[in-house]
Amino acid sequence: MNAADEVLATPLQFLKGVGPRRAADFERVGLLTLEDLLTRFPIRYEDRSRLQSIASLKPGQTAAMAGRLLSCGLRSTRRPGFKIFDAVVDDGTSSIRISWLNQAFLRDVFAPGQHVVLFGAVEMRGSGGLQLTNPQYEILDDEDGETIHTGRIVPVYEKTGSVTPKMQRRLVFDALQRLPPDLPDQLPDGVRLRLRLPSRYAALLATHFPPADAPIDALNRFATPAQHRLIFEEAFLFQAGVAARKQALATEHKSIVPHVDDRIRESARRVLPFKLTAGQRSALKEIVDDLQRPQPMNRLLQGDVGAGKTIVALLAALVAMENGLQVAFMAPTEILAEQHFLNISRLLQDSRFRLALLTGSTPAAARRATLAEIQAGSIHLVVGTHALVEGDVGFKELGLVVIDEQHRFGVLQRASLRTKASHPDVLVMTATPIPRTLALTLYGDLDVSVIRDLPPGRTPTKTTAKPESRRDEVYAFVRAQLDAGRQAYVIYPLVEESEKVDLKAATAMFDHLAQDVFPQYRLGLLHGRMKADAKDRVMKAFTSGEIQMLVSTTVVEVGVDVPNASVMIVEHAERFGLSQLHQLRGRVGRDRHQSYCVLLYQAPLSDEGRERLRAMSETTDGFEIAERDLSLRGPGDFFGTRQAGLPTFRSIDLVRDRSVLEEAKQEVDAWLTSGAADSALAVMRANWAQRFGLIEVG
Ligand code: ADP
Ligand code: MG
Repeated sequence: MNAADEVLATPLQFLKGVGPRRAADFERVGLLTLEDLLTRFPIRYEDRSRLQSIASLKPGQTAAMAGRLLSCGLRSTRRPGFKIFDAVVDDGTSSIRISWLNQAFLRDVFAPGQHVVLFGAVEMRGSGGLQLTNPQYEILDDEDGETIHTGRIVPVYEKTGSVTPKMQRRLVFDALQRLPPDLPDQLPDGVRLRLRLPSRYAALLATHFPPADAPIDALNRFATPAQHRLIFEEAFLFQAGVAARKQALATEHKSIVPHVDDRIRESARRVLPFKLTAGQRSALKEIVDDLQRPQPMNRLLQGDVGAGKTIVALLAALVAMENGLQVAFMAPTEILAEQHFLNISRLLQDSRFRLALLTGSTPAAARRATLAEIQAGSIHLVVGTHALVEGDVGFKELGLVVIDEQHRFGVLQRASLRTKASHPDVLVMTATPIPRTLALTLYGDLDVSVIRDLPPGRTPTKTTAKPESRRDEVYAFVRAQLDAGRQAYVIYPLVEESEKVDLKAATAMFDHLAQDVFPQYRLGLLHGRMKADAKDRVMKAFTSGEIQMLVSTTVVEVGVDVPNASVMIVEHAERFGLSQLHQLRGRVGRDRHQSYCVLLYQAPLSDEGRERLRAMSETTDGFEIAERDLSLRGPGDFFGTRQAGLPTFRSIDLVRDRSVLEEAKQEVDAWLTSGAADSALAVMRANWAQRFGLIEVG
């Protein structure tokens, strides 16, 4: 390690002013070393280079100022529980009044005599004076170097536990002082020079402490050359790591390479209940070609809900089984695993292959027996939930792993299933169409097949958004559908944080619907807290048509298939994300009947909520929905509350930096083919695995 690397590797705990408690706070957000600290961007910048005198302030301005706190205190208002913290700050030219609404804790933050910096919009008060409401603030101690916190463009960091933005500014400033300007650069020189990117040191410096003439709005858009360079660096390292991983996989060899002959083709034809669509055929061909290669397949099968991915996977499974290999078929929930199991059992009933189901609720004795058979190889295909990846599951000759609805599984789980065999083929299926940038980052190491068409005879679901006040109308419509022999879903949101309350609400809703609104129909209730066999009974009753209306939480979200269901009512549709709504809607419209999706919302809607509901009414194209969702919500929420599999980037914002990611990918590809890359890749790999928290797979 050279000197610079040693400095970069300094544990944060050893920095002056950090100590164990703050180091622990940093660690919670993934910051361990000085380098981590430096690669964590400010969340915004404030121009404090021209602090304005209070006397010169005008209403309507957004201004930074500094002064002494003359007085402050908490005041009650007529609204119970609503308190206002008032303060007066004087800078020698004049004074200004400040109010912070509903932030009673400020009582413990401020004290008269403190030297403070304020940043916010100047308003005219009713009585004529000027005031600031809820400004950004920072308290300066007298020993603080004024050069860091005022008199310049200052970086503002996100608060990290007990570490205030101001402390972090000081830490970053000191850290930059310690770094040698000839900091080794992680980007290949050729790439850096050709793209005219600043050096790493210069970029770090100008990103954290921008020069006086840096344009503040470009800074806040993270679009300065320095910021771009750091974003590009992260994207480049990531893409290089992904490429390295892909290369490593390409050098592996399967123990048995399946082949396909006429006998196997005939066996597939016998299983197939319908004619494949063109999309299914071409996806299947790509998969079967992969199966017949010596290198393990690592493929993502994308297709909108209802596109018919299951049969494609099953045909691939058949090829593996006909070649004497075992197949593991993994689903994200027990309901789905059971449904796959039933479907596949039906399709394979005349074949010689034996199936098993393995979930968390498989009784211990049955589980033991099944495990023994899997180990012995007398079970050819196992369907299961994540219970399949547990340590005690061993296969005789696992050849193919199918992972359905991938986004529910983290990269780690994907990896751990792969370890169940030396180098199995892996087919990942997702019904969440993934925008290109996300696909590049999440699945950059996978080859991709896409089914774009739907099986014949489907009519797009008609979707409308309606305020709750028009509920009666909606119920009347549902009644008509039930009378016509169709079935209906009523979906209730279940937010993880308020699960108990939501469950109660869903149950109450069910009682109300069953007793008051639809007493003459057969209703069922389904939610994730029910025992597996109870869920199973309800699901089966709904599938068989015995239950006409299923009131459910989002457990029906993925994969459930009841073609006769033609209406879905989504309660509190405003609480769902766009992709999730689309997934839910995919439960209907699976048959010849015209299907309907009614999104009931509680007014007033937020702008974003309105956009979401509008997008749902305007299009049924999952890929378009995905793009809109990503733009509306950002990638963090794209996959729901769980961000399974999403790498933790420091400076990259997957929405803002889409083009940078694409550029980095192109640069990495060019760099790899230039021949200059081989020795560097090893370094990249180590760096990548560490930085993005991903383990090596394969
Ligand atoms: P998904 O891609 O969402 O997993 P499924 O595999 O569950 O979709 O298929 C949805 C429904 O469409 C199933 O009932 C399936 O039997 C049916 N299906 C799939 N492919 C075809 C096809 N080519 N022709 C007719 N029906 C099909
Ligand atoms: Mg499916």
